[in-house]
Amino acid sequence: MPGNKELAPLIKPSQPKVGINILVVEDNAVVSQLMRMILETAGYVVLVVDDGDKALAAVTDWFPDLILCDLILPTMNGFEVMRLMQRSQRLAHIPFIIVSTESDRIREGMNLGVDDYLPKPFAPDDLLQAVSTRLRRNQVSHGRLVEEVILDAEMRRDLEAGKLKIYYQKIVTACGGETVAVEALLRWPQADGTFRPPADWIPLAERTGFIIALGAWVLERACNEVQEVRVKTGKAIRLSVNVSARQLSEPGFAVSVSEILKRSGLPADGLQIEVTETSAMQDPPLAMRMLREIADLGVKIAIDDFGTGYSSLIYLKELPINSLKIDRAFIRDLPHDPAAVAIVRNILDLASKLNLEVVAEGIELADQLHFLTENGCPFAQGFLLGRPEPASHLIG
Ligand code: C2E
Ligand code: MG
Ligand code: MG
Repeated sequence: MPGNKELAPLIKPSQPKVGINILVVEDNAVVSQLMRMILETAGYVVLVVDDGDKALAAVTDWFPDLILCDLILPTMNGFEVMRLMQRSQRLAHIPFIIVSTESDRIREGMNLGVDDYLPKPFAPDDLLQAVSTRLRRNQVSHGRLVEEVILDAEMRRDLEAGKLKIYYQKIVTACGGETVAVEALLRWPQADGTFRPPADWIPLAERTGFIIALGAWVLERACNEVQEVRVKTGKAIRLSVNVSARQLSEPGFAVSVSEILKRSGLPADGLQIEVTETSAMQDPPLAMRMLREIADLGVKIAIDDFGTGYSSLIYLKELPINSLKIDRAFIRDLPHDPAAVAIVRNILDLASKLNLEVVAEGIELADQLHFLTENGCPFAQGFLLGRPEPASHLIG
């Protein structure tokens, strides 16, 4: 394989392919960096992980258009990664290319449903050829691309036109129902009067990088609105804002948070940011540094959707975390499902031992709330306790 120096002239920079995401699963750092460089130069958005379990966590969050997967990985092989993905309807159609020196296993892979095989070592053109051929063949992905370009333009237009809104959902004490915080949730009104669900369009904003501008707008607007609520009601409710991995990897993020706080008058400990496990671990050293900077401002940090993302708990020890939000997926099955009961009890126990606050998310039923209070969960959030609503509803 040519060295990096000789590589640059071999790769022809091309038009950026807006939002085409490629997940590289490769445990050899030299190979993965080379692949990243080749693919990024060609305009693709690349995420690199070094093992199968991380790949599985990354695909559900990030939803790549194509996966390049090494055959031999530390804890499972590339075929196993593919088999696990095929179990999910959403993931099964993502083109899957195996990259390996072991050409004698091609047949085995093809029988299992691998879409393509790229032998190692490869030249930059071989890699780009394999990727573009596969993407072209994948009509679904192409159709989605056109749709996404339109959606991306609409998001930018409506943010610019001031059409986006923020709703707030209360976080209350589980025992007394007293509001201690509110979570800011983006709302995008459509012509027919409905809201387009954030899950439909925030992932795209993350991929294109538009989330940086959008997230900054949310933070500024929510700090202003909640500070106004605090002043008018005389209650020191905390504001909790969702922050994506892309925002955390922006070098100036902590500085912009501190400036927004100053402008709005909201004290730093009146703000909490919510990050998912996967985004905190996407680029651990970078995310860790940024989260420390933010914590140093006095801003609180919560792990959102706890229990659904990254399988390593090391970050609980390493990061300045204030609270865990137990994902709705566990709360939904309370109190009858023994597995959900065991998981929730253990999270509560873990949090209390680590001195962390806990919020149970997505509570819809009195039974669920009852179980949580009985088991010492301090804070609660969900439709049972309050739906997301405009800031004006929080006053009076
Ligand atoms: P999340 O941060 O986990 O937010 C909680 C989601 O659960 C919200 O969905 C909320 O409306 C919904 N929810 C709350 N209680 C219940 C309940 O009892 N039952 C059910 N079925 N759902 C409940 P929403 O507003 O659709 O937001 C979805 C996700 O979009 C959020 O999940 C968050 O990840 C993302 N999101 C929303 N606003 C922002 C934002 O400003 N920035 C970023 N980066 N992401 C955002
Ligand atoms: Mg959240
Ligand atoms: Mg959540």
